[in-house]
Amino acid sequence: MEKLFNELGLKENLIEGLIKQGIESPTEIQEKAIPIGLAGLDIIGESETGTGKTLAYLLPIFQKIDVTSKDIQAIILAPTHELAMQIHKQIELLSANSGSNVKSTSIIGNVNIKRQLESLKEKPHIVVGSAGRILELITMKKLKSHFVKTIVIDEGDRMIDEDNIEGVKSIIKTTLRDRQIMIFSATISLKVVEIAKTLMKDPEIIKVGDKSVVNPNIEHIYFVVEQRDKLTLLRKLISATNPEKAIIFINKSDEVEITTSKLSYHGLKVEGIHGSSDKENRKKALEDFNEGKIQLLVASDLAARGLDIAGVTHIFNLDIPENSKDYLHRVGRTARMGRRGLALSIAVERELDLIKSYEKDFNIEILQMDIARGMISPHREMPQFEKRRAKKEK
Ligand code: AMP
Repeated sequence: MEKLFNELGLKENLIEGLIKQGIESPTEIQEKAIPIGLAGLDIIGESETGTGKTLAYLLPIFQKIDVTSKDIQAIILAPTHELAMQIHKQIELLSANSGSNVKSTSIIGNVNIKRQLESLKEKPHIVVGSAGRILELITMKKLKSHFVKTIVIDEGDRMIDEDNIEGVKSIIKTTLRDRQIMIFSATISLKVVEIAKTLMKDPEIIKVGDKSVVNPNIEHIYFVVEQRDKLTLLRKLISATNPEKAIIFINKSDEVEITTSKLSYHGLKVEGIHGSSDKENRKKALEDFNEGKIQLLVASDLAARGLDIAGVTHIFNLDIPENSKDYLHRVGRTARMGRRGLALSIAVERELDLIKSYEKDFNIEILQMDIARGMISPHREMPQFEKRRAKKEK
């Protein structure tokens, strides 16, 4: 039987804040990590992005922060700029929704240090960012870490891989002696455990199955067509939804180019990226997309791994992905940072089983819709005679 957030020892205002975000019951990693986190014990958690790990460590941190104090009380280390921003936004969102008044700032390398110095003057309770820059600011005595009670190392396997470990160790040394350390990692390798042992006190190891959650701010719909009508339907849907920024996913890398040129032929602002795009083309397409010069990006799964793009409002699946991980990665490109997103799948009959299986895997509803005269509306079974008439009219 699944537990509820209030059975994990969380305060009411945090639970209410989560509900405002559409989050009602804890994921597996949250169920296991939150009580241990609240107890102040060290944790090594095996968990990937998409399993709710961020809240697994943020909720105990929120519960323990003294907002009346001006000290930095938690440091969260992340390997990439994008992840750090995502965590920072999740903190802001939870702080606003729960009325906690917890302040956070992001401190990342290759970004103007002046602004970071200014943001530290605002007295954040949590600092999120890269080990290098945070250490630099500690050394400059601009970032005071001696009241830090909790340190999180997010994507621990990468932090260690990327030779960040010395920086991480140096940061830990500047904090309170009885601080709590939580390491989250996609896989708990021997290397992670060995390094963890040198940093932590009797860490609790938490493993979860690979059940992932889909961001609750995404709405999922699908349409059924014949294969040859897929592109026409796609164009109709683009015109009906007029997305600010959309990614169109297809299964086969070698069809990216042809799809892109067909859409471009119809006057749409579109570029494509695929696994073997050369670096320059890929960079340009992504820049144009990021800057809003083009509205649509056609991509294969491989090409879209780890893309750092803000403000994607719509995901179109011109083909239904062949496994649930890819569905998760695709739709995960939208509805970032608390915004809403729409995922539209264009399926032929034989792809419907996949859609059903993703509904089950993620416990989500993917609703069948139709489009007529530029309007999208819920699908309704047509009586036989109407079906025949519709066929004739085509
Ligand atoms: P993460 O694994 O931390 O990157 O989280 C992935 C997404 O899942 C985020 O958009 C969260 O808002 C969402 N999320 C986190 N916890 C839950 C939950 N218990 N139920 C539903 N969605 C969640």
